[in-house]
Amino acid sequence: MKKYDYLIVGSGLYGSTFACMAARSGKKCLVIDKRSQTGGNLYCENVEGINVHKYGAHIFHTSNKEVWDFVNSIVEFNRYTNSPVANYKGKLYNLPFNMNTFYQMWGLTTPETALAKIEEQKREAEELMCAEGVSEPRNLEEQALLLVGRDIYEKLIKGYTEKQWGRKCTELPAFIIKRLPVRLVFDNNYFNDKYQGIPIGGYNKLIEGLLKDAEVMPDTDFFHDRERWMNIADKIVFTGKIDEFYSYCFGKLEYRTVRFEEEVLSTPNYQGNAVVNYTEATVPYTRIIEHKHFESFGAEVYDNPYTVISREYSTEWSEGMEPYYPVNDTRNSQLYQQYKELADMEENIIFGGRLAEYKYYDMAPIVESVFKHFND
Ligand code: FAD
Repeated sequence: MKKYDYLIVGSGLYGSTFACMAARSGKKCLVIDKRSQTGGNLYCENVEGINVHKYGAHIFHTSNKEVWDFVNSIVEFNRYTNSPVANYKGKLYNLPFNMNTFYQMWGLTTPETALAKIEEQKREAEELMCAEGVSEPRNLEEQALLLVGRDIYEKLIKGYTEKQWGRKCTELPAFIIKRLPVRLVFDNNYFNDKYQGIPIGGYNKLIEGLLKDAEVMPDTDFFHDRERWMNIADKIVFTGKIDEFYSYCFGKLEYRTVRFEEEVLSTPNYQGNAVVNYTEATVPYTRIIEHKHFESFGAEVYDNPYTVISREYSTEWSEGMEPYYPVNDTRNSQLYQQYKELADMEENIIFGGRLAEYKYYDMAPIVESVFKHFND
């Protein structure tokens, strides 16, 4: 008899949701995490009474009612609606591309005139490519021009995308942008999902609730005492890096990361919105997040005389940095497949979450994937 039914390596959303579901079915879990706090990338730190998203701004969104009801059964979510604004050379544009954006860009007030303008610019791009004898877009720039035309591309896509990927749009593959939806309504709600929000009191409340019936050991790295942890439970749920689990035997997987520059300001309201994207190439950061706007609305914003902002710099990843985004190129996909083949042969180890599956996952699909595990 082992001491636990499950050893869960990592207290991020995958590990914590797994711990909650396992406890609900009467299982005993130990959750270890190498960080000093739980919650993985959802972790928030309280700074001047404001929940600061330490590993990047997180907005929960889903159309899956089961997932929404589940997270709300742990902690109630607020009414936050993501409606980012783009700043291009000091001029502001609403996102996603909608009638507000088209009014700001061209002064057009009707869906018919906005659509005609976009179609005209798309046609110009097509004609230009035709004249060059190009039938399929050869790169992201050509793809974006065909989808939305030059004005939207140059003001709202080009600089931001180049900063995000650290490469020129003409050097990025076309497939990165499959669709660029334009909305012919005055609607700044970024997501199409039915439900969205932020846990009232912050994400730490969600994680605390999910972990309430598990034993939790922070500051504990699985690899520092691998032998012990491998034998402490009937099954292991591993949510760390899959290549590290196999001692990088096939080579290292690569990532892109984000560097956050945090600042506390003695002003109650810096930019009037949680998310402002900087879409010109000469501004080095991609976005400024003002954290208090995730949880205080209207006049409440002024209850706290301080605010906290984070400038986000998209950066090449190297050892020691946070591995945020998997790189979906051929080398890394093939490498991951090699590790996955080893993982598929394990009988008592479940590999789950963004690092173990080397996959970008939003939060709701993480919860769905834990549900799937328990339903199968
Ligand atoms: P993680 O949160 O990374 O948790 C893994 C945990 O394992 C970590 O706590 C880590 O310390 C621990 N661990 C790793 N190795 C070991 C080890 N050897 N020993 C012990 N512990 C270990 N999703 C949304 O839905 N909306 C958003 O707005 C959103 N914004 C995002 C912004 C950014 C910048 C990023 C990178 C992601 C964003 N996401 C968002 C996605 C979201 O972060 C993920 O869905 C979620 O964090 C995945 O949870 P996880 O448990 O798989 O991974």
